[in-house]
Amino acid sequence: MTPDITTQPFESDADGFQEECAVFGIFGSKEAHILTALGLHALQHRGQEATGMVTYNGDEFNVLRGVGQVGENFSSGSSALESLKGHIAIGHNRYSTTGLSEVRNIQPFLTELAFGPFALAHNGNLTNAEKLRNSLIATGSLFQSTTDTEAIIHLVARSHQSAPKDRLAEALMQVSGAYALVAVVEGCLIGVRDPLGIRPLVMGTIGDATILASETCALDIIGADYVRDIDPGEMVIISKDGVSSVRLTEAQPSRFCIFEYIYFARPDSRLEGRSVYSARKSIGKELAAETGVEADLVVPVPDSGVPAAIGYAEASGIPFELGIIRNQYIGRTFIQPTEAGRTSGVMLKHNANSEIVAGRDVILVDDSIVRGTTSKKIVAMMRAAGAKKVHMRIASPPTTNPCFYGVDTPDKDKLMAALMSVEDMAEAIGADSLAFISIDGLYRAMGEANRSSDTPQFCDACFTGDYPVKTAPSHSSGDSA
Ligand code: AMP
Repeated sequence: MTPDITTQPFESDADGFQEECAVFGIFGSKEAHILTALGLHALQHRGQEATGMVTYNGDEFNVLRGVGQVGENFSSGSSALESLKGHIAIGHNRYSTTGLSEVRNIQPFLTELAFGPFALAHNGNLTNAEKLRNSLIATGSLFQSTTDTEAIIHLVARSHQSAPKDRLAEALMQVSGAYALVAVVEGCLIGVRDPLGIRPLVMGTIGDATILASETCALDIIGADYVRDIDPGEMVIISKDGVSSVRLTEAQPSRFCIFEYIYFARPDSRLEGRSVYSARKSIGKELAAETGVEADLVVPVPDSGVPAAIGYAEASGIPFELGIIRNQYIGRTFIQPTEAGRTSGVMLKHNANSEIVAGRDVILVDDSIVRGTTSKKIVAMMRAAGAKKVHMRIASPPTTNPCFYGVDTPDKDKLMAALMSVEDMAEAIGADSLAFISIDGLYRAMGEANRSSDTPQFCDACFTGDYPVKTAPSHSSGDSA
């Protein structure tokens, strides 16, 4: 049986918040717990609300999960971290926008199934989770969390296959959507990517140990060598006998999330063979070619707009300046659940560098406009600092559709670009002009001749509404990861 994948779009008005998370796994190191804590540190940008780790020493499992960032839970030399002994470890960072993270939803999950312990961590969102959950509960499953991930565990528990990895494979045949998974079962570390490869998962090595991680920056931090990206629809099984690989679905064109390049991934990561930093710079160059305007300065909205602004400045010949300074001790303002919180968060996060912008015509470059909260505040801040003209340039096409595959975007009725024209948006944010890169320009910046209309090379549903997974999303089943 193959998962329910098609290139047909679907109509949906589902609401709710999504999460973008990080996974990390390591097999074959006495320092698995320390390397996992470091890997999770490098992946902190993907989730700051909660973190967790499960280790296995060949005899017993240890688990530690907590609300807050990695450093708060796994500080170097702490007795908590030292208690997590073992040669295998998996870890997870969680990023939710729904407010307080319920402790019961913090991953990795560790459960006792018929064949023994099973530990699992997930980045992504299952689009048929609600349906699965309802039918599993109706037939006796007892859910311990409100996450979509837990459905996978119940499906593994019910599988009639005998080998645990076959049970996981069978469970995954029944789920739709986006997933990058790391699991520990029967002394093996397992990694799996969804059939379209929407979310990233890379493999590396350090000494005799093998690593799986959401991004290559987690390999760099521990001095590991990058080996390859896990293929879409591939399951890798890492054991003392080495690495084996099983293809769970027939090969098909991948639909990697283009927003990972635009915003989510760290600029020093390489995903699917591309440098995130270079991709962002190219987007900035293309943006300048498409939306050029006369000005004195190109100013990035830090940090997310920096590489694109560098590209914009390079292509336009307009000087690049840090006209906005970011307070590095403030987290992502986007995750604030209320408008008031988001607004004050934006004020705390950025301040105008008046010396630079006063009396100048400024091009502001940011990666995206979602609700418009950031742009409104930043434009007002530039004016208050004395900027003469403020032109806003955005390094992605207008975000007109929610993501159902694990990136946090609000419902359509809160997406500024879904509600008004670009001209009206410019007025609403108070800019002298506003322009976005086109979808074709974005594909050109990614090195593609154009966006293939039959099978687009990326998942770009947030900009096009072209959802690559047919199954309608099910937010109400709970949190994704
Ligand atoms: P907004 O202020 O609602 O328009 O959000 C846009 C800002 O949030 C941009 O500066 C982005 O850098 C950032 N952003 C965009 N998408 C996301 C996301 N899914 N999660 C967190 N931050 C985001």
